[in-house]
Amino acid sequence: MNIQQKVSQTLKKIKLNKKARIIVALSGGKDSTVTAYLLKKLDYNIEGLHINLGIGKYSEKCLKAVQKLCDDLKIKLHVHNIKKEMGSSMCYLRSAIQSKQKTGMLKNCAICGVIKKWIMNREARKLKADRIATGHNLDDEAQTYLMNVFKGSPELSANSGPITRNIPDKKFVPRIKPLFYVAEDDIREYSKKKKFPVVYESCPCALGSYRIEVRKFLNTISKKEKRNIIRNFEKVFSKFKKDESKGINYCEICGEPARNKICKMCLLMKTR
Ligand code: SF4
Ligand SMILES: [Zn+2]
Repeated sequence: MNIQQKVSQTLKKIKLNKKARIIVALSGGKDSTVTAYLLKKLDYNIEGLHINLGIGKYSEKCLKAVQKLCDDLKIKLHVHNIKKEMGSSMCYLRSAIQSKQKTGMLKNCAICGVIKKWIMNREARKLKADRIATGHNLDDEAQTYLMNVFKGSPELSANSGPITRNIPDKKFVPRIKPLFYVAEDDIREYSKKKKFPVVYESCPCALGSYRIEVRKFLNTISKKEKRNIIRNFEKVFSKFKKDESKGINYCEICGEPARNKICKMCLLMKTR
């Protein structure tokens, strides 16, 4: 089965409606680019959202790549500039957060991930999106599942899958992952063959994360074994009991959906 067929099958599995308004989170990398290209090719109703993180030349290249892609695909692009909206670039925000932390310093990607997710949900909701599509692939998902297994908390993966399994909520835009079953090597090959405008270099801030260690390990195993990790996850995920009694809260500070009284984003901002 080729990439397009795999994606088409995944979208059927999650019953994605052709009329649904989908915001694709575009980073300028290969995964989100291939996601947007295939959704458009399969005739879904998409627009792009790019978060300009202000990471020097790297972010400038990413923005250019995303603009070119949206021009080529003839789709609308929304750009959220962190520096303009929050007063500082991601580099500054995370150094400020890290310098205030007393114990167990959070890694760059952990901080960046929380901030991006918060912005993405809020912006997609403002744009009246039905779904947010991200470029997460089979390797990313195998990494996340294994990281949770290594931490002794596989149940943390309970909400993941080709569509988020959160309790439906008017303030939460469900996220879909059309590349959930596609291996990273296949995406890279496809993207290069199609000559997409993509930034292939790694983000200069992706340093020392646990994910990188797990990725190194996963790079030593075959695609079939990676697929088996996901199969394994899908077999056991129904056994993870979700605590639905709490429902979704709204953060007391920002009003965004949160698991606890204060969302992860506001907890981070409080430590600045
Ligand atoms: S690699 Fe890490 S720091 Fe860079 S954009 Fe991604 S999450 Fe943010
Ligand atoms: Zn909040």
